[in-house]
Amino acid sequence: IFTVLSLANMNAQKKQHLDAKKPIEERISLLMKEMTLEEKVGQMNQYNGFWDVTGPAPKGGNAELKYENLRKGWVGSMLTVRGVKEVRAVQKIAVEETRLGIPLIIGFDVIHGYKTLSPIPLAEAASWDMDAIKNSASVAADEASAAGINWTFGPNVDISRDARWGRMMEGAGEDPYLGSKIATARIKGFQGDNFSGNNKIAACAKHFAAYGFAESGRDYNTVDISNSTLFNVVLPPFKAAVDAGVKTLMNSFNILNGIPATGNAFLQRDILKGKWRFDGFVVSDWASVREMIAHGYAANGAEATMKAVNAGSDMDMESHLYVAELAKLVKEGKVKESLVDDAVRRILRVKFELGLFDNPYKYCDEAHEKTIGSKANNDAVLDMAKKSIVLLKNDGGLLPLKKKGQKVVLIGALAADKNSPLGSWRIASDDNTAVSVLEGMQKYDPALAYEKGTDLTIGKTSFTEELVFNTTDESGFEAAKKAAATADVVVMVLGENGFQSGEGRSRTNLDLPGNQQELLEAVYKVNKNIVLVLNNGRPLALPWAAANIPAIVEAWHLGTQTGNAVAEVLYGDYNPSGKLPVSFPRNVGQVPIYYNNYSTGRPVDSDKNVFWSHYSDVEKTPLFPFGFGLSYTTFEYKNLEVSKAIYAKGEAIKVSVVVTNSGNFDGKEVVQLYIHDQSASLARPVKELKGFELASLKKGESKTITFTLTDKELGFYDNEGNYLVEPGMFKIMVGGSSDKGLESSFQLN
Ligand code: BGC
Repeated sequence: IFTVLSLANMNAQKKQHLDAKKPIEERISLLMKEMTLEEKVGQMNQYNGFWDVTGPAPKGGNAELKYENLRKGWVGSMLTVRGVKEVRAVQKIAVEETRLGIPLIIGFDVIHGYKTLSPIPLAEAASWDMDAIKNSASVAADEASAAGINWTFGPNVDISRDARWGRMMEGAGEDPYLGSKIATARIKGFQGDNFSGNNKIAACAKHFAAYGFAESGRDYNTVDISNSTLFNVVLPPFKAAVDAGVKTLMNSFNILNGIPATGNAFLQRDILKGKWRFDGFVVSDWASVREMIAHGYAANGAEATMKAVNAGSDMDMESHLYVAELAKLVKEGKVKESLVDDAVRRILRVKFELGLFDNPYKYCDEAHEKTIGSKANNDAVLDMAKKSIVLLKNDGGLLPLKKKGQKVVLIGALAADKNSPLGSWRIASDDNTAVSVLEGMQKYDPALAYEKGTDLTIGKTSFTEELVFNTTDESGFEAAKKAAATADVVVMVLGENGFQSGEGRSRTNLDLPGNQQELLEAVYKVNKNIVLVLNNGRPLALPWAAANIPAIVEAWHLGTQTGNAVAEVLYGDYNPSGKLPVSFPRNVGQVPIYYNNYSTGRPVDSDKNVFWSHYSDVEKTPLFPFGFGLSYTTFEYKNLEVSKAIYAKGEAIKVSVVVTNSGNFDGKEVVQLYIHDQSASLARPVKELKGFELASLKKGESKTITFTLTDKELGFYDNEGNYLVEPGMFKIMVGGSSDKGLESSFQLN
């Protein structure tokens, strides 16, 4: 009797962490007291679930080892397990068959939706609409959670100035201020305010840090940047993510100024967990702990593990090293057990906060799973898709198309493509299709004539299974020209395939792949009334098109509802209001090109801020600047006012401007405010975005838009990472693009 009682007592003690009335930190302590070192290390181990997790126990190889470790309680998280059935199967092993029954946290790359796909993140950024972006993340969270997932590896908050880098499509563009606002919106959308209910998931700001600055835009490449760029450009969106309560961060593959990000204590311990007081956990990027060996930063797996854990990488994604090496390193005194405890506490904290201890099957709800792909979710991504479109050119009012009495011909392989518009990152949706532009336009014009003109891809390489894009076959040109000759307006959908951007998809050319440029010029010879609709995951450099084609619509990769969104814009049922979140270069040689550069000095006319630094073969300005985008209506700006000429430090500065819709359509305008700090202890950029407002204006309507500037907007980081607000003159500019606007100034004392 005594033994039975004391066992029962022990079990009750063991389960004390399940008492939901106790504070989370106490529950974590109670649980950690029960954990062996190996079980603690297990929490820091994350596996990809590539075996059939619902089938019988795997035999042999990696899968068998993973399975055994899962049963031992040596796995804290799994990724790419999807669907309630699969998640339930692995969660059941973790919760019901391991000694302590600690639930798994299930991660997945929900980058722009789970099954119902939103536009790629760069496209969404072009909306400058924080409510829409938040809502889009919320739809993604809803569908992911319905599929059993409780943690997304998003948002990607990497700032990038290099269109050659394929992962620019995953971020919010080139600007840290806009990027910070978008990071916040996405995190709120994914996470909600807390995790009550079962449709909010933990977010992950990535990749910490500076991954977007890979040299020459080649993915995974070395990053060498100044402290000024690190503190003022790269880190602010991560800081915003932490301030917004993001639960996790992912570190990155790249070396940053000589130290791999995964082994970087300065980033992860000093800044993130020290200065910013981040209390969630850091997951490594895929095998990035092991990659430190290739980086020449660790001789073997044990050293890589030691360096990663000491530097603050809490969870090992798929290096399989922590589980193999870490317990031994602790016993040898090479890693302090307190660091392991700290990592485990962070991981458990997120699991407790998600409610996984209270109900490990919280995200395994078959009824919820049935709502994936609902009408409401499709409506939401359609709304987001329309808001992401940017009108780059509309000479002679070629757009909107007339709904009657105009013959339209549609050309381009991408126009009928139902796969490419989904863009990169849709691993849950390989069998998924989008509404094509052809289908969208056919709703307005059932007899619409269509010609492919050329192919974009010529199949896959047998070796890497990668698509090949260098089509040269012109056999479809004649039919395209013939059709174009009969049209009043030719709509051409050209650009990149959805898999030409994304991870590992860097390019050295920013042109139209294959022979699409040749097709465009051939069609132009027979009919100049062309509306060019671009599909792309990065800025393209299209100087010929910008000079010759009368109307250009930037439609990115817009996700599931692509065709409907494009058609509504082309036929004028939706007035575009997107603005570029990134500069479009004239050619690759200008890259990196971005609006918030420093001045070069050497004036030609210093009064006019004109400087001699230039190229001898092309203008130095971008083809389309950051913040630029047209509408079917026009907006006028007047009466820019700063409420006072001189301010004391700490005082709120009020700036107002009157914006009028002076055209013939109701519309929305992104009113942008830029500042320039005229003299400081570090040189300051010529312009920095510090406020924006999305104003809806009926035709003829005027509105006064007011901005408030505080210390938060006026300061900058010095080379040690201290935030400084310094007195002096500030110029401001307010307008509808980064390249022009009304100007004023004030003094800060
Ligand atoms: C990417 C991450 C992603 C991870 C898991 C890596 O290759 O860099 O962004 O979350 O894979 O799929």
